[in-house]
Amino acid sequence: MENEEEWNMERTLSIIKPDGVKRALAGEVIRRFEQAGIRIAAMKMLHLTKARAMAFYAVHRERPFYESLTDFMSSGPIVVMVLEAEGVIQRNRDLMGATNFKDAAPGTIRHDFATDIEQNVVHGSDGPDTAQTEIAFFFSSLEMV
Ligand code: UDP
Ligand code: MG
Repeated sequence: MENEEEWNMERTLSIIKPDGVKRALAGEVIRRFEQAGIRIAAMKMLHLTKARAMAFYAVHRERPFYESLTDFMSSGPIVVMVLEAEGVIQRNRDLMGATNFKDAAPGTIRHDFATDIEQNVVHGSDGPDTAQTEIAFFFSSLEMV
């Protein structure tokens, strides 16, 4: 291997959800990633249509919260990022905290900032396969630096 430092490099998709952007938490969330030594390989702000939000969360289409979740995710601008670091899929999930902020550990993003089980500030891919699919949903390889 030419570059041993990149041996176990992993990428994941992070989203600062509409509540996070609206409440001016984007800087704080990004600061936490940077502080943790996680590199941002791509980043942009965009506003999902309802249809695009439904496509992104298609895995949840049978769940009772699907309609409300996709309304929420298309309610305002979001910040999407590709995070890069060793073990970053799990490390990002650890920084985020549990889905329900009431179960999230102190010091996690959701514990510290979420106000609702749905409006929980951040999204993060939950495994290597979803990371790859979700990154491709938002970014082309040319957008990764
Ligand atoms: N969600 C919700 N009600 C629930 C479970 C999830 O509104 O009972 C929302 C919440 O915004 C969550 C998203 O749906 O982040 C996706 O759910 P998932 O179980 O994948 O949680 P995550 O991977 O985001 O922790
Ligand atoms: Mg999930």
